Amino acid sequence: MSQETSTTIASPAPVVSEVMATVLSFDVEEHHRIEAAAGLEVAPSLREDYRRRMARTTRWILDRLAAREIHATFFIVGQIAEDDPGLVRAIADAGHEVASHGWDHRRILAMTRETFREDLRTSKDALEQAGGVKVVGYRAPTFSLVRKTAWALDILADLGFLYDSSIYPVRHDRYGIPEAPRGPFVAVGESAEILEIPPATVRLGGVNFPVGGGGYFRLLPGPMFRSALTLARRDPKAGATMLYFHPWEFDPDQPRLPLQRVSRFRTYVGIRQSRSRLERLMTGRRFMRAVDLATRLHDRRDELPRFRPGHGPGTRLHCVD
Ligand SMILES: [Zn+2]
Repeated sequence: MSQETSTTIASPAPVVSEVMATVLSFDVEEHHRIEAAAGLEVAPSLREDYRRRMARTTRWILDRLAAREIHATFFIVGQIAEDDPGLVRAIADAGHEVASHGWDHRRILAMTRETFREDLRTSKDALEQAGGVKVVGYRAPTFSLVRKTAWALDILADLGFLYDSSIYPVRHDRYGIPEAPRGPFVAVGESAEILEIPPATVRLGGVNFPVGGGGYFRLLPGPMFRSALTLARRDPKAGATMLYFHPWEFDPDQPRLPLQRVSRFRTYVGIRQSRSRLERLMTGRRFMRAVDLATRLHDRRDELPRFRPGHGPGTRLHCVD
């Protein structure tokens, strides 16, 4: 690349703000696959129960989206395409985007380049077969595309993915690259590059706060979460707002996993209100699928910020801030 410097030049006109896109996404995985449950022995009968509940709750989500004529992106664990191809087909048939959330929800940090390539390829194939549509989007389990695993960008581009949504521009104990741009950008790997659509953040006092969904959606009081989103949406540097949820977050009666105290709180807080919260969140807002945003941005990618996550604290190449 000829622009491998941290030199900052004047930003062009904001590329994405005119789109004012809010992307609604769901990471489809059974409850026992969550990171907080890593290392727990989960009985096969409970796994089976979570599998059934995940399918049922996903269908509830599909029903609510249909009622509001909203189309969303579903990042789905590849094994689900094998276990329940009908669910993946129902998602695709309803006009939603089917995207990859890895084969078995293993984090990239636990993989080599070779096993990641295999994981990605297998999940893409299984989802494409079940859904009957091309898979071009990826989200790493637990946002595990971090500096150490930036090599994954080259493999994503090599396997024909159009975009990635795995880099959370926040400081967190499990994930994140706090220096990464907060809006869509071109993530530059060692030999290739790919469009990145990061989850939503709000910048306050020079610090990025995650407001894209998940635990933050259930932890923050409803009005505060919605105000944070409005703030994120208005910020021209954020450009687009990517939200993410999980079907298990909308299943208040599921059996609880025996998690450590802090994880237990993070996982189950606010779960009884989350269905009504999602309904309120969807009211009066327009949403689009990640693939539609990515397609628009792809044509104008020369105007987007460029960022190389794999180099030290991250190198902004140009057009930033
Ligand atoms: Zn996940």
